[in-house]
Amino acid sequence: MSIESISETREQINQKILGDIRNRKPVFWENDSHIPFKNLKGQLDVSVLEIKDAEARLKRFAPFIKAVFEDTEALDGLIESPISEIGQFKSTLENNYDFSFPGKMLLKRDDLLPIAGTIKARGAIYEVLRHAEALAFEEKLLSGYDDDYGKFATKAFQDFFKQYTVVVGTTGNLGISSGVMSAKIGFNVQVHMSHEAKQWKKDYLRSHGVQVIEHKTNFTEAVDQGRQSALSDPYAYFIDDEHSIQLFLGYTTAASRLERQLKEQQIIVDEDHPLMVYLPCGVGGSPGGITYGLKQIYGDNVHCFFAQPTHVPSMLLGLITKKFADISVYDFGIDGLTVMDGLAVPRTSQIVAKLMSGIFDGGYTLTDEESNRLLTDLKDVEDIFVEPAATAGLMGPQKLFTTTAGKNYLIHNNLMDKVDHMTHIAWATGGSMVPADEQKLFYEKAKANQ
Ligand SMILES: *Cc1c(COP(=O)(O)O)cnc(C)c1O
Repeated sequence: MSIESISETREQINQKILGDIRNRKPVFWENDSHIPFKNLKGQLDVSVLEIKDAEARLKRFAPFIKAVFEDTEALDGLIESPISEIGQFKSTLENNYDFSFPGKMLLKRDDLLPIAGTIKARGAIYEVLRHAEALAFEEKLLSGYDDDYGKFATKAFQDFFKQYTVVVGTTGNLGISSGVMSAKIGFNVQVHMSHEAKQWKKDYLRSHGVQVIEHKTNFTEAVDQGRQSALSDPYAYFIDDEHSIQLFLGYTTAASRLERQLKEQQIIVDEDHPLMVYLPCGVGGSPGGITYGLKQIYGDNVHCFFAQPTHVPSMLLGLITKKFADISVYDFGIDGLTVMDGLAVPRTSQIVAKLMSGIFDGGYTLTDEESNRLLTDLKDVEDIFVEPAATAGLMGPQKLFTTTAGKNYLIHNNLMDKVDHMTHIAWATGGSMVPADEQKLFYEKAKANQ
């Protein structure tokens, strides 16, 4: 037992962390409600079977995806991203913060995901396809799961889907993923956007035939507007970033794909070779789904940490207070403003926060200045541009190895003698679709504010 846990109860630690969160100080939080995964198995609300079902569905649609999106051809219609080592960046991080850690640091390149260039492609595209498949079966346009899903590219299918509308509320990226795929299926698409949404995202969607409705409000309210609009139309389907189990399932499928990639790179994950994964967190769906999927494969040999801006610590607040979605950052006197626009979600997802409460390992917050430095460093030393939200995971090793709470995490989980065999993965969640002139602006702004 560590000295800290003798002198301080978990309740005292949580109170101290809530104080720091309120003061917008960066924190590292270890989940004190974590339950060993082997004890959770069998009583999980989302089963392995459902994850397998989602994986199979994406495989069925692969011939269609390959036919309509050229950039998925090399992957045979699978929407997947590469993973690569970022050794130069790792050295820079160590130098900047005067620490060092052994083991490899990898970047999961969801910034390069086909079709949408963000992690949202995993969840949103899955949900759109699942909805389209259900409608096609209802109309008997498909004979069975072994039918040729290439048919979705035909005019007959497209004409059928024209009667239906897909509605989504978003800060931007969910709109791109669901909007572009919905439009390809033939759906009408209506995207409700919050004030953070960038102009180029609106322009891009409109150029794809998507109806964009602009709101001068935050994410939660844009989602509410979208939900109301969809409720009044029986032919409308609402992709609900805050409540959708389908989005969540789409994200879980990343896990088995990652497992394959790590095997290909001969990276071992087992009790002596822990895998540390750092995931940017907004509403919680993408980091939650990926964590859920990874835990099903690796159990507690994988440690997943959620990264949030100091000004938008919504998931941490929800979990520490156990109020989940019943508490927003505003209730805590925090303004919810950040350069990491994809993470500007003041209230976490109820469904994800509840699903996560026992599985969640830990999380941390980072400042805008830290994010800015990560963005320019990654560009300078690896020539990789990621959007601001996607930098959050890059701070993970620094938070884990240099903060007292991070070091205590290692002690509590018997990881101290395993640090030499750890693999660290920062999940880059978006960036490649940002237009070149916008990338330059992001870079310059980041350089000026660190
Ligand atoms: C949406 C998003 C996230 C976070 O995903 P959530 O499901 O909202 O937690 C992270 N990075 C980028 C670029 C995103 O668009």
